[in-house]
Amino acid sequence: MLKVIVDLWCIACGASEDTALHTLEVCVAWEPQRRALSAVLGRDLSLPSVVRAMLDSERSWQAAVSFCEEVMTQKETAERAREDDASADPLRHKRMGVRRRRFAHLPLPRNNGVAGR
Ligand SMILES: [Zn+2]
Repeated sequence: MLKVIVDLWCIACGASEDTALHTLEVCVAWEPQRRALSAVLGRDLSLPSVVRAMLDSERSWQAAVSFCEEVMTQKETAERAREDDASADPLRHKRMGVRRRRFAHLPLPRNNGVAGR
């Protein structure tokens, strides 16, 4: 069974929790990405507002996708660097499973795998 260790704190800014909301609206580390997103979506980056904007226009959808991709790429890079750090806690060394390796190169489906959109 794959055991996933979830960090509760934000490795980007040290805040006590790292949630989607923290990343989208609060974390100082993602200020440049947030500014680019706000330039397209407006100042209200609450989850309902972002979802509404994404469904409203292709441009907003792309802006949100870019934000997510950039943030996730940087978070994954930081996570890998931490895992590669020999002095890191051995519990943080996460082994990539067969399924994840097999599908890692594929882009995520835009419709989240739901047919008929
Ligand atoms: Zn943060």
